[in-house]
Amino acid sequence: MIVMKFGGTSVQDAKAIDRVAQIVQGRLADRPVVVVSAMAKVTDSLLAMGKAAGSGDRKTALKMARTLRERHYETAGELLGTALFTEFHGDLGADFEDLDELLRGIGAVGEITPRTYDYVASFGEVLSSKIVSAAFVARGLPGAHVDSRQCLLTDSSYTRAVPQFDETNERLRKKVKPLVDSGKVPVMGGFIGANRAGITTTIGRGGSDFSAAIFGAGLNAERIEIWTDVDGMMTTDPRLCADTRRIKVISFDEAAELAYFGAKVLHPATVLPAVQQNIPVYVLNSMNPTCEGTKITARAPRCSNIFKAIALKKKITLVEVASPRRLLVHGYLKSIFEAFDQHGVAVDVVSTSEVSVSVTAETNEAIPALAADLAKIADVKYEGRKAIVCLVGENLRETPGIAAKVFGILENVKIRMISQGASEINLTFVIEEDDASEVVRRLHHAFFAEADPEVFA
Ligand code: ASP
Ligand code: MG
Repeated sequence: MIVMKFGGTSVQDAKAIDRVAQIVQGRLADRPVVVVSAMAKVTDSLLAMGKAAGSGDRKTALKMARTLRERHYETAGELLGTALFTEFHGDLGADFEDLDELLRGIGAVGEITPRTYDYVASFGEVLSSKIVSAAFVARGLPGAHVDSRQCLLTDSSYTRAVPQFDETNERLRKKVKPLVDSGKVPVMGGFIGANRAGITTTIGRGGSDFSAAIFGAGLNAERIEIWTDVDGMMTTDPRLCADTRRIKVISFDEAAELAYFGAKVLHPATVLPAVQQNIPVYVLNSMNPTCEGTKITARAPRCSNIFKAIALKKKITLVEVASPRRLLVHGYLKSIFEAFDQHGVAVDVVSTSEVSVSVTAETNEAIPALAADLAKIADVKYEGRKAIVCLVGENLRETPGIAAKVFGILENVKIRMISQGASEINLTFVIEEDDASEVVRRLHHAFFAEADPEVFA
Protein backbone atom coordinates (compact mmCIF):
# COMPACT_ATOMS: atom_id res chain seq x y z
CA MET A 1 0.00 0.00 0.00
CA ILE A 2 1.19 3.50 -0.81
CA VAL A 3 -0.17 7.00 -0.24
CA MET A 4 -0.12 9.41 -3.17
CA LYS A 5 -0.78 13.04 -2.33
CA PHE A 6 -1.52 15.60 -5.02
CA GLY A 7 -1.19 19.31 -4.22
CA GLY A 8 -3.35 22.19 -5.39
CA THR A 9 -1.60 22.77 -8.70
CA SER A 10 -1.71 19.04 -9.46
CA VAL A 11 -5.53 19.18 -9.32
CA GLN A 12 -6.03 22.75 -10.50
CA ASP A 13 -8.13 21.96 -13.57
CA ALA A 14 -9.46 19.11 -15.70
CA LYS A 15 -6.19 18.66 -17.53
CA ALA A 16 -4.26 18.39 -14.28
CA ILE A 17 -6.76 15.92 -12.78
CA ASP A 18 -6.56 13.88 -15.95
CA ARG A 19 -2.79 13.66 -15.44
CA VAL A 20 -3.38 12.57 -11.84
CA ALA A 21 -5.63 9.76 -13.07
CA GLN A 22 -2.92 8.58 -15.45
CA ILE A 23 -0.27 8.68 -12.75
CA VAL A 24 -2.46 6.72 -10.33
CA GLN A 25 -3.31 4.24 -13.08
CA GLY A 26 0.40 3.53 -13.43
CA ARG A 27 0.63 2.73 -9.70
CA LEU A 28 -2.41 0.49 -9.27
CA ALA A 29 -0.26 -2.52 -8.48
CA ASP A 30 1.08 -0.64 -5.44
CA ARG A 31 -2.45 -0.30 -4.04
CA PRO A 32 -2.63 3.49 -3.71
CA VAL A 33 -4.62 5.65 -1.35
CA VAL A 34 -4.97 9.10 -2.91
CA VAL A 35 -4.97 12.32 -0.90
CA VAL A 36 -5.74 15.64 -2.58
CA SER A 37 -5.52 19.30 -1.75
CA ALA A 38 -8.17 21.77 -2.75
CA MET A 39 -7.81 22.98 -6.34
CA ALA A 40 -5.13 25.69 -6.52
CA LYS A 41 -6.07 28.95 -4.75
CA VAL A 42 -9.43 27.60 -3.58
CA THR A 43 -8.60 27.64 0.14
CA ASP A 44 -7.50 31.26 -0.14
CA SER A 45 -10.70 32.28 -1.84
CA LEU A 46 -12.86 30.33 0.63
CA LEU A 47 -11.18 32.13 3.50
CA ALA A 48 -11.68 35.44 1.69
CA MET A 49 -15.38 34.62 1.35
CA GLY A 50 -15.61 33.82 5.03
CA LYS A 51 -13.93 37.10 5.84
CA ALA A 52 -16.19 39.11 3.55
CA ALA A 53 -19.29 37.49 5.02
CA GLY A 54 -17.91 37.99 8.52
CA SER A 55 -17.58 41.71 7.88
CA GLY A 56 -21.21 41.79 6.81
CA ASP A 57 -20.53 41.84 3.07
CA ARG A 58 -22.76 38.95 2.13
CA LYS A 59 -23.07 40.03 -1.48
CA THR A 60 -19.34 39.80 -2.19
CA ALA A 61 -19.11 36.49 -0.36
CA LEU A 62 -21.92 34.92 -2.35
CA LYS A 63 -20.52 36.30 -5.59
CA MET A 64 -17.19 34.64 -4.86
CA ALA A 65 -18.98 31.42 -4.01
CA ARG A 66 -20.68 31.54 -7.38
CA THR A 67 -17.33 31.89 -9.17
CA LEU A 68 -16.04 28.94 -7.18
CA ARG A 69 -19.10 26.90 -8.05
CA GLU A 70 -18.65 27.63 -11.74
CA ARG A 71 -15.00 26.62 -11.66
CA HIS A 72 -15.79 23.28 -10.01
CA TYR A 73 -18.77 22.59 -12.29
CA GLU A 74 -16.69 23.39 -15.33
CA THR A 75 -13.88 21.10 -14.21
CA ALA A 76 -16.23 18.28 -13.32
CA GLY A 77 -18.14 18.73 -16.59
CA GLU A 78 -14.95 18.50 -18.60
CA LEU A 79 -13.77 15.45 -16.72
CA LEU A 80 -16.99 13.49 -16.57
CA GLY A 81 -18.84 14.20 -19.79
CA THR A 82 -22.51 15.11 -19.86
CA ALA A 83 -24.15 11.90 -18.69
CA LEU A 84 -21.94 11.30 -15.67
CA PHE A 85 -21.82 14.97 -14.80
CA THR A 86 -25.60 15.15 -14.69
CA GLU A 87 -25.56 12.32 -12.18
CA PHE A 88 -22.84 13.93 -10.09
CA HIS A 89 -24.17 17.46 -10.35
CA GLY A 90 -26.65 17.07 -7.49
CA ASP A 91 -23.95 15.97 -5.07
CA LEU A 92 -21.73 18.97 -5.82
CA GLY A 93 -24.75 21.25 -5.91
CA ALA A 94 -25.72 20.21 -2.38
CA ASP A 95 -22.26 21.19 -1.13
CA PHE A 96 -22.49 24.56 -2.81
CA GLU A 97 -25.96 25.11 -1.33
CA ASP A 98 -24.46 24.36 2.09
CA LEU A 99 -21.67 26.82 1.44
CA ASP A 100 -24.09 29.57 0.38
CA GLU A 101 -26.24 28.87 3.41
CA LEU A 102 -23.20 29.05 5.64
CA LEU A 103 -22.05 32.36 4.14
CA ARG A 104 -25.52 33.84 4.55
CA GLY A 105 -25.46 32.78 8.18
CA ILE A 106 -22.05 34.30 8.76
CA GLY A 107 -23.20 37.45 6.99
CA ALA A 108 -26.30 37.68 9.18
CA VAL A 109 -24.24 37.43 12.34
CA GLY A 110 -21.53 39.67 10.89
CA GLU A 111 -18.87 37.68 12.65
CA ILE A 112 -16.73 34.67 11.83
CA THR A 113 -15.12 32.44 14.44
CA PRO A 114 -12.18 30.06 13.94
CA ARG A 115 -14.61 27.17 14.07
CA THR A 116 -16.64 28.65 11.23
CA TYR A 117 -13.49 29.48 9.25
CA ASP A 118 -12.60 25.80 9.36
CA TYR A 119 -15.99 24.78 8.10
CA VAL A 120 -15.76 27.28 5.24
CA ALA A 121 -12.19 26.21 4.37
CA SER A 122 -13.10 22.52 4.37
CA PHE A 123 -15.19 22.85 1.22
CA GLY A 124 -12.06 23.04 -0.92
CA GLU A 125 -10.86 19.54 -0.07
CA VAL A 126 -14.36 18.09 0.15
CA LEU A 127 -15.07 19.23 -3.41
CA SER A 128 -11.70 18.36 -4.93
CA SER A 129 -11.72 14.85 -3.46
CA LYS A 130 -15.22 14.19 -4.78
CA ILE A 131 -14.32 15.43 -8.24
CA VAL A 132 -11.07 13.48 -8.41
CA SER A 133 -12.81 10.33 -7.24
CA ALA A 134 -15.58 10.74 -9.84
CA ALA A 135 -12.96 11.43 -12.54
CA PHE A 136 -11.21 8.19 -11.62
CA VAL A 137 -14.42 6.23 -11.97
CA ALA A 138 -15.12 7.88 -15.32
CA ARG A 139 -11.72 6.63 -16.47
CA GLY A 140 -12.27 3.09 -15.32
CA LEU A 141 -10.22 3.47 -12.15
CA PRO A 142 -11.88 2.05 -9.04
CA GLY A 143 -12.00 5.39 -7.15
CA ALA A 144 -13.91 5.46 -3.86
CA HIS A 145 -14.47 8.77 -2.14
CA VAL A 146 -13.85 8.77 1.59
CA ASP A 147 -14.76 11.78 3.68
CA SER A 148 -11.57 12.45 5.65
CA ARG A 149 -13.60 13.92 8.47
CA GLN A 150 -14.73 10.43 9.30
CA CYS A 151 -11.12 9.27 9.63
CA LEU A 152 -8.97 12.11 10.84
CA LEU A 153 -9.98 12.75 14.45
CA THR A 154 -8.57 15.96 15.89
CA ASP A 155 -8.92 18.06 18.99
CA SER A 156 -10.89 21.30 18.80
CA SER A 157 -8.07 23.79 18.23
CA TYR A 158 -9.72 25.16 15.12
CA THR A 159 -7.51 26.26 12.22
CA ARG A 160 -4.63 24.18 13.55
CA ALA A 161 -6.27 21.18 15.09
CA VAL A 162 -4.10 18.45 16.52
CA PRO A 163 -4.60 14.92 15.19
CA GLN A 164 -5.47 12.20 17.68
CA PHE A 165 -3.37 9.44 16.25
CA ASP A 166 -4.56 6.29 17.99
CA GLU A 167 -8.19 6.73 17.10
CA THR A 168 -7.39 8.08 13.66
CA ASN A 169 -5.32 4.99 12.95
CA GLU A 170 -8.09 2.75 14.13
CA ARG A 171 -10.59 4.49 11.88
CA LEU A 172 -8.20 4.28 8.93
CA ARG A 173 -7.87 0.56 9.48
CA LYS A 174 -11.64 0.20 9.68
CA LYS A 175 -12.73 2.50 6.87
CA VAL A 176 -9.88 2.78 4.40
CA LYS A 177 -7.93 -0.45 4.54
CA PRO A 178 -10.91 -2.68 3.58
CA LEU A 179 -11.44 -0.52 0.50
CA VAL A 180 -7.82 -1.00 -0.54
CA ASP A 181 -8.09 -4.72 0.18
CA SER A 182 -11.10 -4.96 -2.09
CA GLY A 183 -9.18 -3.33 -4.94
CA LYS A 184 -10.59 0.19 -4.61
CA VAL A 185 -8.59 3.40 -4.74
CA PRO A 186 -9.74 5.54 -1.80
CA VAL A 187 -9.67 9.27 -2.57
CA MET A 188 -9.51 11.54 0.44
CA GLY A 189 -9.21 15.27 1.03
CA GLY A 190 -6.15 16.44 2.91
CA PHE A 191 -6.18 19.26 5.47
CA ILE A 192 -9.59 18.47 6.98
CA GLY A 193 -10.68 16.45 9.96
CA ALA A 194 -13.31 16.55 12.66
CA ASN A 195 -13.37 16.64 16.42
CA ARG A 196 -15.11 14.09 18.58
CA ALA A 197 -18.41 15.91 18.23
CA GLY A 198 -18.11 15.57 14.45
CA ILE A 199 -17.49 19.28 13.92
CA THR A 200 -15.19 20.03 10.99
CA THR A 201 -11.63 21.10 11.78
CA THR A 202 -8.51 21.82 9.72
CA ILE A 203 -4.96 20.93 10.65
CA GLY A 204 -3.27 24.15 9.46
CA ARG A 205 -2.53 25.78 6.12
CA GLY A 206 -0.62 23.54 3.76
CA GLY A 207 -1.75 20.61 5.89
CA SER A 208 -2.48 18.14 3.11
CA ASP A 209 1.07 16.82 3.21
CA PHE A 210 0.58 16.25 6.90
CA SER A 211 -2.67 14.39 6.19
CA ALA A 212 -0.84 12.20 3.69
CA ALA A 213 1.81 11.39 6.27
CA ILE A 214 -0.80 10.65 8.94
CA PHE A 215 -2.70 8.36 6.60
CA GLY A 216 0.49 6.71 5.40
CA ALA A 217 1.67 6.11 8.94
CA GLY A 218 -1.73 4.88 10.11
CA LEU A 219 -2.04 2.45 7.23
CA ASN A 220 1.59 1.43 7.46
CA ALA A 221 2.25 2.42 3.85
CA GLU A 222 5.39 1.30 2.04
CA ARG A 223 5.96 4.85 0.94
CA ILE A 224 4.31 8.24 0.69
CA GLU A 225 4.45 10.14 -2.56
CA ILE A 226 4.02 13.90 -2.46
CA TRP A 227 3.15 14.94 -6.02
CA THR A 228 3.79 18.57 -6.70
CA ASP A 229 4.90 20.77 -9.60
CA VAL A 230 8.67 20.63 -9.23
CA ASP A 231 11.15 17.83 -9.85
CA GLY A 232 11.98 17.49 -6.17
CA MET A 233 14.35 19.21 -3.80
CA MET A 234 17.23 21.04 -5.39
CA THR A 235 20.70 21.88 -4.15
CA THR A 236 19.58 25.50 -4.20
CA ASP A 237 16.96 27.73 -5.79
CA PRO A 238 17.38 27.24 -9.56
CA ARG A 239 16.60 30.92 -10.08
CA LEU A 240 19.89 31.73 -8.35
CA CYS A 241 22.23 29.25 -10.02
CA ALA A 242 22.34 27.75 -13.46
CA ASP A 243 23.94 24.49 -12.34
CA THR A 244 21.67 23.41 -9.49
CA ARG A 245 21.11 19.70 -9.13
CA ARG A 246 18.23 17.60 -7.97
CA ILE A 247 18.82 15.91 -4.63
CA LYS A 248 17.99 12.24 -5.17
CA VAL A 249 17.97 11.30 -1.53
CA ILE A 250 18.01 13.34 1.66
CA SER A 251 17.46 12.64 5.34
CA PHE A 252 14.31 13.67 7.16
CA ASP A 253 16.33 16.03 9.36
CA GLU A 254 17.95 17.72 6.41
CA ALA A 255 14.63 18.05 4.59
CA ALA A 256 12.97 19.53 7.66
CA GLU A 257 15.78 22.04 8.00
CA LEU A 258 15.34 23.10 4.37
CA ALA A 259 11.58 23.26 4.61
CA TYR A 260 11.94 25.72 7.43
CA PHE A 261 14.00 27.89 5.15
CA GLY A 262 11.23 28.14 2.67
CA ALA A 263 12.08 25.28 0.33
CA LYS A 264 8.36 25.31 -0.31
CA VAL A 265 8.38 21.80 -1.67
CA LEU A 266 7.46 20.07 1.54
CA HIS A 267 5.67 20.96 4.72
CA PRO A 268 8.05 20.19 7.61
CA ALA A 269 5.32 18.64 9.72
CA THR A 270 4.87 16.01 7.03
CA VAL A 271 8.07 14.53 8.20
CA LEU A 272 7.00 13.52 11.67
CA PRO A 273 4.43 10.75 11.45
CA ALA A 274 6.37 9.15 8.60
CA VAL A 275 9.81 9.43 10.19
CA GLN A 276 8.63 7.73 13.32
CA GLN A 277 7.72 4.72 11.26
CA ASN A 278 10.58 4.73 8.84
CA ILE A 279 8.31 5.28 5.87
CA PRO A 280 10.14 6.96 2.99
CA VAL A 281 8.57 10.07 1.49
CA TYR A 282 9.07 10.90 -2.18
CA VAL A 283 8.65 14.34 -3.69
CA LEU A 284 7.57 13.94 -7.32
CA ASN A 285 6.45 16.15 -10.19
CA SER A 286 3.00 15.56 -11.67
CA MET A 287 4.05 17.57 -14.77
CA ASN A 288 7.06 15.32 -15.23
CA PRO A 289 6.06 11.97 -13.75
CA THR A 290 9.02 9.97 -15.03
CA CYS A 291 11.47 12.07 -13.03
CA GLU A 292 12.54 10.15 -9.93
CA GLY A 293 12.16 13.14 -7.64
CA THR A 294 13.62 13.30 -4.17
CA LYS A 295 13.47 10.47 -1.68
CA ILE A 296 13.39 11.46 1.97
CA THR A 297 14.52 8.77 4.37
CA ALA A 298 15.05 8.48 8.10
CA ARG A 299 18.81 8.21 7.73
CA ALA A 300 20.92 9.97 5.15
CA PRO A 301 22.93 7.73 2.89
CA ARG A 302 26.68 8.22 2.71
CA CYS A 303 27.54 11.28 0.67
CA SER A 304 30.93 12.53 -0.41
CA ASN A 305 29.69 16.13 -0.43
CA ILE A 306 29.66 17.99 2.84
CA PHE A 307 26.33 19.70 2.14
CA LYS A 308 23.07 18.61 0.60
CA ALA A 309 21.69 22.05 -0.11
CA ILE A 310 21.96 25.78 0.36
CA ALA A 311 18.83 27.63 1.41
CA LEU A 312 18.37 31.36 1.21
CA LYS A 313 15.82 33.49 2.98
CA LYS A 314 15.59 37.14 2.05
CA LYS A 315 13.65 40.05 3.56
CA ILE A 316 15.19 39.61 6.96
CA THR A 317 15.55 42.27 9.62
CA LEU A 318 18.36 42.10 12.11
CA VAL A 319 17.50 43.35 15.59
CA GLU A 320 20.37 44.08 17.95
CA VAL A 321 19.61 44.52 21.61
CA ALA A 322 22.49 45.71 23.75
CA SER A 323 22.69 46.40 27.43
CA PRO A 324 26.12 46.33 29.03
CA ARG A 325 24.82 45.76 32.51
CA ARG A 326 21.67 43.79 32.22
CA LEU A 327 22.26 40.78 30.04
CA LEU A 328 23.11 38.54 32.90
CA VAL A 329 20.30 39.81 35.07
CA HIS A 330 17.75 37.17 35.80
CA GLY A 331 14.77 37.34 33.44
CA TYR A 332 16.37 39.75 30.99
CA LEU A 333 16.51 37.41 28.00
CA LYS A 334 13.02 36.28 28.82
CA SER A 335 11.71 39.82 28.63
CA ILE A 336 13.38 40.31 25.25
CA PHE A 337 11.80 37.23 23.75
CA GLU A 338 8.50 38.02 25.38
CA ALA A 339 8.50 41.32 23.52
CA PHE A 340 9.01 39.45 20.23
CA ASP A 341 6.19 37.16 21.16
CA GLN A 342 3.82 39.94 22.15
CA HIS A 343 4.34 41.65 18.81
CA GLY A 344 3.86 38.41 16.95
CA VAL A 345 7.36 38.56 15.45
CA ALA A 346 8.79 35.10 14.83
CA VAL A 347 12.46 34.73 15.59
CA ASP A 348 14.82 33.01 13.13
CA VAL A 349 18.46 33.13 14.15
CA VAL A 350 19.71 34.19 17.57
CA SER A 351 23.16 34.89 18.84
CA THR A 352 24.23 36.37 22.14
CA SER A 353 27.34 37.84 23.61
CA GLU A 354 27.86 39.13 27.10
CA VAL A 355 26.51 42.52 26.22
CA SER A 356 24.19 42.02 23.30
CA VAL A 357 21.60 39.80 21.72
CA SER A 358 21.21 39.69 17.95
CA VAL A 359 18.00 38.32 16.58
CA THR A 360 16.73 38.00 13.04
CA ALA A 361 13.12 38.00 12.00
CA GLU A 362 11.22 38.18 8.76
CA THR A 363 10.86 41.84 7.89
CA ASN A 364 7.38 43.02 8.83
CA GLU A 365 5.53 46.11 9.98
CA ALA A 366 5.42 45.03 13.63
CA ILE A 367 9.16 45.52 14.05
CA PRO A 368 9.24 49.31 14.70
CA ALA A 369 6.71 48.93 17.53
CA LEU A 370 8.65 45.95 18.87
CA ALA A 371 11.86 47.98 18.80
CA ALA A 372 10.15 50.83 20.62
CA ASP A 373 9.08 48.41 23.35
CA LEU A 374 12.54 46.89 23.60
CA ALA A 375 14.04 50.36 23.84
CA LYS A 376 12.45 50.61 27.28
CA ILE A 377 14.81 47.95 28.61
CA ALA A 378 17.91 48.20 26.39
CA ASP A 379 19.61 49.91 23.48
CA VAL A 380 18.01 48.71 20.29
CA LYS A 381 19.01 48.94 16.66
CA TYR A 382 17.34 47.29 13.75
CA GLU A 383 18.27 47.01 10.10
CA GLY A 384 16.32 45.54 7.22
CA ARG A 385 17.49 44.19 3.87
CA LYS A 386 19.36 41.23 5.32
CA ALA A 387 19.36 37.64 4.17
CA ILE A 388 19.89 34.31 5.90
CA VAL A 389 22.00 31.69 4.16
CA CYS A 390 21.72 28.18 5.50
CA LEU A 391 23.94 25.28 4.47
CA VAL A 392 22.49 21.90 5.34
CA GLY A 393 24.09 18.50 5.52
CA GLU A 394 24.44 15.60 7.95
CA ASN A 395 28.18 15.51 7.26
CA LEU A 396 28.52 18.74 9.22
CA ARG A 397 28.35 16.60 12.34
CA GLU A 398 31.59 14.79 11.71
CA THR A 399 33.68 16.92 9.40
CA PRO A 400 36.08 19.35 11.06
CA GLY A 401 37.09 22.66 9.52
CA ILE A 402 33.91 23.29 7.59
CA ALA A 403 33.32 26.80 8.89
CA ALA A 404 36.83 27.77 7.82
CA LYS A 405 36.12 26.43 4.35
CA VAL A 406 32.82 28.26 4.03
CA PHE A 407 34.01 31.60 5.31
CA GLY A 408 37.27 31.27 3.40
CA ILE A 409 35.20 31.29 0.24
CA LEU A 410 33.39 34.40 1.45
CA GLU A 411 36.49 36.29 2.49
CA ASN A 412 35.39 39.74 1.40
CA VAL A 413 31.72 39.35 2.34
CA LYS A 414 30.33 41.19 5.33
CA ILE A 415 28.95 38.52 7.65
CA ARG A 416 26.59 39.91 10.26
CA MET A 417 25.79 36.82 12.32
CA ILE A 418 26.81 33.19 12.43
CA SER A 419 25.03 30.29 14.00
CA GLN A 420 25.71 26.62 13.86
CA GLY A 421 22.28 25.24 14.50
CA ALA A 422 21.45 23.19 17.52
CA SER A 423 20.58 20.36 15.16
CA GLU A 424 24.27 20.21 14.20
CA ILE A 425 23.36 19.79 10.58
CA ASN A 426 23.12 23.38 9.50
CA LEU A 427 25.51 26.26 9.27
CA THR A 428 23.62 29.51 9.13
CA PHE A 429 24.74 33.08 8.69
CA VAL A 430 23.31 36.48 8.00
CA ILE A 431 24.51 38.80 5.23
CA GLU A 432 23.37 41.89 3.36
CA GLU A 433 20.50 41.07 1.05
CA ASP A 434 22.33 42.68 -1.86
CA ASP A 435 25.15 40.15 -1.52
CA ALA A 436 22.86 37.14 -1.26
CA SER A 437 22.68 35.89 -4.85
CA GLU A 438 26.40 36.18 -5.38
CA VAL A 439 27.16 34.42 -2.10
CA VAL A 440 24.88 31.51 -2.92
CA ARG A 441 26.40 31.17 -6.40
CA ARG A 442 29.90 31.13 -4.99
CA LEU A 443 29.09 28.57 -2.32
CA HIS A 444 27.20 26.40 -4.74
CA HIS A 445 30.08 26.42 -7.12
CA ALA A 446 32.51 25.51 -4.35
CA PHE A 447 30.49 22.72 -2.78
CA PHE A 448 28.56 21.20 -5.69
CA ALA A 449 30.84 21.47 -8.72
CA GLU A 450 31.62 17.85 -8.00
CA ALA A 451 28.52 16.07 -6.82
CA ASP A 452 28.20 12.52 -5.49
CA PRO A 453 26.26 10.69 -8.24
CA GLU A 454 24.55 8.47 -5.65
CA VAL A 455 22.99 11.49 -4.00
CA PHE A 456 22.62 14.13 -6.70
CA ALA A 457 21.14 13.90 -10.18
N1 ASP B 1 -5.72 23.52 0.76
C1 ASP B 1 -5.03 23.74 2.00
C2 ASP B 1 -4.22 25.00 1.92
O1 ASP B 1 -4.16 25.61 0.87
C3 ASP B 1 -4.17 22.58 2.38
C4 ASP B 1 -3.10 22.20 1.38
O2 ASP B 1 -3.17 22.56 0.21
O3 ASP B 1 -2.17 21.50 1.77
O4 ASP B 1 -3.67 25.40 2.91
MG1 MG C 1 -2.98 24.42 -1.19
